[in-house]
Amino acid sequence: MSTATPAQQEIALEELKSLFSDADFGQPEIFGAAPGRVNVIGEHIDYNGGLVLPAAIDKWVHVALARREDKKVRLVSAQAPGQLVEFEITDSLAPEGKSWGNYVKGVIAGLLKAGFEVPGFDAAVTSTVPVGGGLSSSAALEAVFGSVLLSVTGQEMTKLDLARLCQKAEHDFAGVPCGLMDQAAVILCEEGKLLLLDCVDDSFQQAKFEDPNWSLLIINSCVSHELSDGGYAVRRDGCHDAARLLGVGTLREVDPAKLEATLADPRLTPDMVRYVRHAVTEIERTKLAVAALDRKDYLEAGKLLNESHASLRDDYKVSCPELDFIADLAQGQEGVAGCRMTGGGFGGSAIALVRRESVEALTALIEGQYKAEFGIEAKIFETRPMGGTHCWMA
Ligand code: ADP
Ligand code: MG
Repeated sequence: MSTATPAQQEIALEELKSLFSDADFGQPEIFGAAPGRVNVIGEHIDYNGGLVLPAAIDKWVHVALARREDKKVRLVSAQAPGQLVEFEITDSLAPEGKSWGNYVKGVIAGLLKAGFEVPGFDAAVTSTVPVGGGLSSSAALEAVFGSVLLSVTGQEMTKLDLARLCQKAEHDFAGVPCGLMDQAAVILCEEGKLLLLDCVDDSFQQAKFEDPNWSLLIINSCVSHELSDGGYAVRRDGCHDAARLLGVGTLREVDPAKLEATLADPRLTPDMVRYVRHAVTEIERTKLAVAALDRKDYLEAGKLLNESHASLRDDYKVSCPELDFIADLAQGQEGVAGCRMTGGGFGGSAIALVRRESVEALTALIEGQYKAEFGIEAKIFETRPMGGTHCWMA
């Protein structure tokens, strides 16, 4: 390999190697790394036939793996200290309880079903992607195992097929009925590019975003107000019902030029009017953001992020006081093109498009004021778009 990737240079490899040897797994044969992801724009529209624009971030799930002679799998993770996950590879793998091994099992089951060979193995996992923090550690975990298991045995499948296999593992072995965005981002992203994924047919293209003067800043609010009333399902079903009333397959088919007339349709409930307005305008904003980033018009792209936040807050109502505070504060600062909540909402992270030279001051400002307002430490880090999952022989 000519130059090491950011994942290969990471100091985390040291921890990974000691974890592997402390578990008495001998010498690793292969290493793999899969990034976390963040959605830059295109929120709550994957289930509306929309476009999403994620980036792989400079946080990684790493794995070290060695094949075994038998069909046994043994797993350890720095994020699940003291636990050894063990199972046999059979044709009837099934998830067990809430074990993190289910994600790995799901990937193995998918590979077997697709006709690939999977040997027994020992593997150790470490992660700089926060686990359960909305940056998709689960997709990274699936992707990294899929990738190393194929590589170590010299087998191949397309990246899109691997993303679909990992998505199915998440559905069937973790019980999460997710779209393809997370797995696609983690596997298909290329360095210096965002992934424009069309949720209608899973077609995708790379959208350039590489500029030494501009960074993506991820600001984790470290709160989660997951609504017990099924906030996500209510909105998704509301959108689907609205589409049905309007006689379209998905809200993607609503002509943005005729939005006002569409919203005046008396069959739509007031909630549906807000949902439709968010979905239709967010799909447009995503298209415009890709074009703006392509021509390096960061101020325009940032304005679209701000509008996205307002739409998610006022029309879709999935923000929360902490995310609003962060977005409001960031949006007014020198060197900030724009800021919005990212992910499902009700907590989690915000993303800002920031001039490199302003990152430090902005980080300090948000840390201080957020702590003063809410008594919580925000976790903030800078990233640029990374390449996706990859592996290398030990
Ligand atoms: P997110 O994908 O946003 O991080 P999820 O709830 O979808 O959150 O996935 C988190 C789950 O993924 C954890 O509960 C754990 O089972 C599994 N997981 C992810 N990374 C690791 C890791 N490094 N070690 C062990 N389990 C992990
Ligand atoms: Mg996840």
